[in-house]
Amino acid sequence: FTAGGGGGENTIVPGTASGFPPFEMKEGDEVVGFDIDLLEAVVAETDYELADWEDLNSFDSLIPSLRNGNIDAIAAAMTITDQRDENIDFSDPYYSANQSILVREDGDFQPSELSDLQGHQVGSQSGTTGESVIQGMVDEGNFQESNYNAYDTYVLAVTDLENGNIDAVVLDEPVAASFASERSVSVSFVYETGEQYGFGVRTDDDELQTALNDGLAAVRESGTYQDLTSEWFGE
Ligand code: GLN
Repeated sequence: FTAGGGGGENTIVPGTASGFPPFEMKEGDEVVGFDIDLLEAVVAETDYELADWEDLNSFDSLIPSLRNGNIDAIAAAMTITDQRDENIDFSDPYYSANQSILVREDGDFQPSELSDLQGHQVGSQSGTTGESVIQGMVDEGNFQESNYNAYDTYVLAVTDLENGNIDAVVLDEPVAASFASERSVSVSFVYETGEQYGFGVRTDDDELQTALNDGLAAVRESGTYQDLTSEWFGE
């Protein structure tokens, strides 16, 4: 008996990094969320089968783990970027997002644009597009690098924000909304980046990439995609 699949050559190991609600989060020992359900529905439309999910400790280790074969596909709300595209391949886009700036719910600091972050302690998760937004400000001389706080997970960043150790967190809009509904933080403003998420595969895995794209088209067509967005985002 092998959970999740037969272990044959068409069995692929899916990888994610939980702590990014509602895309992937822990429920007991299990990882659940929109990405989990979506990839499972997509793969069910193909000749592939999914093995058990690998939940990596950090978002940063997903691409190295994919490249060295520990996992075969990434489903982690990963934005398709040119830089990542040099090292892995992506499926067609499956979700659009911008960045949100989270602050303490009851705090005095209520920034309304990026330049307001100057002089404040700001955090994000290492290796993310949220970090790229902050890095972009640093590169333009509009933000002091020493005021940037990098975390292994956004859960830790939000906890530090609640505790008053930092003043703002930059992260994906739907995830910020989720933290805002559960924790003592709120969205101060949205910075439009027009990001799109894709599933990641190795660059030599054209067959899997094609299968995932066909599977995505099929779940959009069947209404399953819409059902999952309603279930996880209430959209
Ligand atoms: N979408 C963001 C990125 O790709 C954040 C993803 C995440 O933290 N899981 O960098």
